[in-house]
Amino acid sequence: MSQPQSDLSAFHWLIDMLESVEVGVVVLDLDYRVQAWNGFMASHSGVPTAMIHNQVLFDFFPDLPQKWLKRKVESVVLLNTRTFTSWEQRPYLFRFRNTRPITGTEPFMYQNLTISPVIGPDGNVNKICLMIYDVTDIASSRMALEQANKELGRLSMTDGLTGLLNRGTWENHIDAEFERHRRYGHESALVMFDIDHFKPVNDTYGHLAGDEVIKHTAQIIRDNLRSSDRAGRYGGEEFGIILPETNAEGARVICERIRETIENATVQTDAAPIQYTISMGIAPLTNLPDNYMQWLQQADQALYAAKTGGRNQVRVFGDDQ
Ligand code: GH3
Ligand code: MG
Ligand code: MG
Repeated sequence: MSQPQSDLSAFHWLIDMLESVEVGVVVLDLDYRVQAWNGFMASHSGVPTAMIHNQVLFDFFPDLPQKWLKRKVESVVLLNTRTFTSWEQRPYLFRFRNTRPITGTEPFMYQNLTISPVIGPDGNVNKICLMIYDVTDIASSRMALEQANKELGRLSMTDGLTGLLNRGTWENHIDAEFERHRRYGHESALVMFDIDHFKPVNDTYGHLAGDEVIKHTAQIIRDNLRSSDRAGRYGGEEFGIILPETNAEGARVICERIRETIENATVQTDAAPIQYTISMGIAPLTNLPDNYMQWLQQADQALYAAKTGGRNQVRVFGDDQ
């Protein structure tokens, strides 16, 4: 075989590979006229090679980020070096529909992109080559993982039954609030409360009905708090609320509203309609606790006073201890 024939055969091989490779290959001259457009590009864009050949890329794809791409290309030409952009920086260059059946959750194809200089016979960069990689699978599994991690983070902070903060997280918030007060002297109030005679609810209507009552309580709290307030489930049917920027009187108003709402509500459970009450204790941050644990104990003492005082009431620490 003569030399030119073998060159030609190698050339055919290369063209075949270029056509069938699962990567988008686009060669542009320095006026952004398309010099090569492989099968991947043709099939995903719907624009056949013959149609776009020698045409200005941006005329066919007006949605391309023209300014951004030109800046990239100019630096590739100037510096004669390849550059890479990942889907995390820019999800795609060409908006192609995602055709993967298993990753059908993503509406478009995520792409990594390399832009390489192509050197002409005179040794200068006279074209550039874009390579477009379909990374939809990687991107969607990475995003699913991030979503799962976020969800895990949330779950580890909240109580499964009520969605309120769990005890550990809530105590961290009290600690932080106490420190904030120590530094800046802001007013703040801590509330502990507990469902009255809850054991008989469980005993009479069953544990599931009891759970419904606990969930109902959490919902009433959520409905009555400001976004800066922090509510937690402290134990079985014991709850706590941190009320920043609130004095004893303000806390009493909020607590009375919650207490009354619960007293007047009926929980429709599968077992029976249930009515119940709660007792609440408030510790405004004016009684000089040494640390957040002592602050918590003050709220608990006020709660105890509400229980012994006949239940279904609100007591403030310091008023009658
Ligand atoms: P008091 O008015 O003095 O608070 O009386 P009480 O019956 O509410 O108090 P006690 O602490 O004796 O009862 C709490 C009950 O709460 C006991 C327990 O079975 C129940 N409990 C704790 N956690 C849960 C839970 O997650 N779901 C249900 N359904 N019941 C729970
Ligand atoms: Mg109770
Ligand atoms: Mg209790």
